[in-house]
Amino acid sequence: MKPFICKDCVQCCTEFGSTNGTGYLPVYEWELVILKDLANKNNIDLKIKPVTVLYDKISKQTFCVVYGIFNSPCIFLKNNKCSIYKSRPLVCKSYPLFWSPDYKQVITKSCFGLCPNIDHDEFLSNIKGMNKDEIKKYFKKIYGDTYKNCNQSNRINLALTDLLKGLEKDKKIFLEELYSKDYPKDIISLTEFLLNNKLVSKKELEELRKNI
Ligand code: SF4
Ligand code: SF4
Repeated sequence: MKPFICKDCVQCCTEFGSTNGTGYLPVYEWELVILKDLANKNNIDLKIKPVTVLYDKISKQTFCVVYGIFNSPCIFLKNNKCSIYKSRPLVCKSYPLFWSPDYKQVITKSCFGLCPNIDHDEFLSNIKGMNKDEIKKYFKKIYGDTYKNCNQSNRINLALTDLLKGLEKDKKIFLEELYSKDYPKDIISLTEFLLNNKLVSKKELEELRKNI
């Protein structure tokens, strides 16, 4: 199989609902800061809503882990090109990969977006019988930097999950995931939640960011 070449059909920038199954562009708070800044500079109205929201029964605070940008097609798409290419969020840099073999035990179609330029059946049949290291090499060969970006995205996702699980295990927090119909008005960011409640220090947070 040859390296994956994006054919710039822009389906992934125009049809979030059908390509990544979410209907929005998912971003972390540090990415949102960059996107808001770019939007302000270009007089763009971003439709932002929290999408992964947790309630801590101990502090009684609600915080957001992942935000969604609901402008669809993506508002940064200009003349069928990404106008913020270098600053695009990690989810775009990783597309069409969602999960890398470094983090997922079994590679299935759900590890990929619905990019029309991937033959999922052919891909899965080619990796059949390969061991984990061979599968990783194969991903690297086909997806190059996209594979690296997917690893980073998976790493961040798992690091945040581990951090919150560790705090729960130590009984410092007690979390409940909220449905959008139950979101209160005062939702704070994950960073605010962690710092306000002295769950991590600024230094620890910086270290965590550096390592992912
Ligand atoms: S859907 Fe696939 S081919 Fe089309 S722009 Fe996105 S990554 Fe490229
Ligand atoms: S930020 Fe760029 S790459 Fe990402 S969806 Fe928007 S236009 Fe596409």
